[in-house]
Amino acid sequence: MTLATTRETTPEKSSPSIRSGIGKTWTTAEAAALYRMPLNDLLFKAQTIHRANFDPNRVQLSRLLSIKTGGCPEDCAYCSQSVHHESGLSASKLMEVERVIAEAKKARDGGATRYCMGAAWRNPKPRDMEAVVAMVKGVKALGMETCMTLGMLDREQSEQLSHAGLDYYNHNIDTSERYYSEIITTRHFADRIETLANVRAAGMKVCCGGIVGMGEQESDRVEMLTTLANLPEHPESVPINMLIPIPGTPLANAAPIDPIDFVRTVALARIMMPESVVRLSAGRTAMTDEMQALCFFAGANSIFVGDTLLTAGNPENDKDMALFQRLGLQPMELDGAS
Ligand code: SF4
Repeated sequence: MTLATTRETTPEKSSPSIRSGIGKTWTTAEAAALYRMPLNDLLFKAQTIHRANFDPNRVQLSRLLSIKTGGCPEDCAYCSQSVHHESGLSASKLMEVERVIAEAKKARDGGATRYCMGAAWRNPKPRDMEAVVAMVKGVKALGMETCMTLGMLDREQSEQLSHAGLDYYNHNIDTSERYYSEIITTRHFADRIETLANVRAAGMKVCCGGIVGMGEQESDRVEMLTTLANLPEHPESVPINMLIPIPGTPLANAAPIDPIDFVRTVALARIMMPESVVRLSAGRTAMTDEMQALCFFAGANSIFVGDTLLTAGNPENDKDMALFQRLGLQPMELDGAS
């Protein structure tokens, strides 16, 4: 069944109440009230909205490659790639363009429709731009969607990447504005918002979400999603990450988030940003199949495939495909991905 067919035959599609997350300015009180609804009511609402906007049994597959690992001058408390933490990760140089394209081809042949390339930078230097532009062009030529995450971008860099054909730029706000300085001190929340504006102004799509389980309060999760839902346009992709505590980082001993609270966060993202692809992102290795199933029911419809996520572990492909089979899920085709 194609996405278009499902959308045409879904009766709720035109219901204004189901699409009300678009163009709405949310208050944190409204969002918090949703977050705390009885779980059955919250999941029913999220799934109803999900069905009005997507084929409920299709999940978009993305593949992520670290094109430059470690040695990052930023001090994000969750990250093994920061020079400020003793994670034992050794830094590498920017990968050669040909190797990136060869890896992308393997990912395409394995079913991925989007290729995400990440570099551990505060921001790209002028000397890096030629190579990253060539990577975008090369991966696009394979017929894949392209996404990059390179740190902060100015207007000119955003234009360069957009002209090269970059479809998405990933730049997470990570957490609430209130909690931000507890997690990162080398930049400000406003810097993130500025890069997001530069990316939009250059005509690229935005991939922007956050991480939960970093010791934040429930109100921080609600506030983070309220910030995303109140951006001038909703991010087309909203990754919701569950912290992978990494030895040597300040969050190595962070208490794990209650899985039900994680599911609530996914459901809230689905309700507040009805047409965005919500990605069940980092942390799936620590989730049971049942928890992932609940996340898909709550409206998650994208995952990363492959056995590593930049530097952290991810379920093996066979395990993911076995889970898809158990749940009756299928990969989303390229024209249905966003
Ligand atoms: S999350 Fe990104 S910006 Fe922060 S330390 Fe890691 S690589 Fe650097």
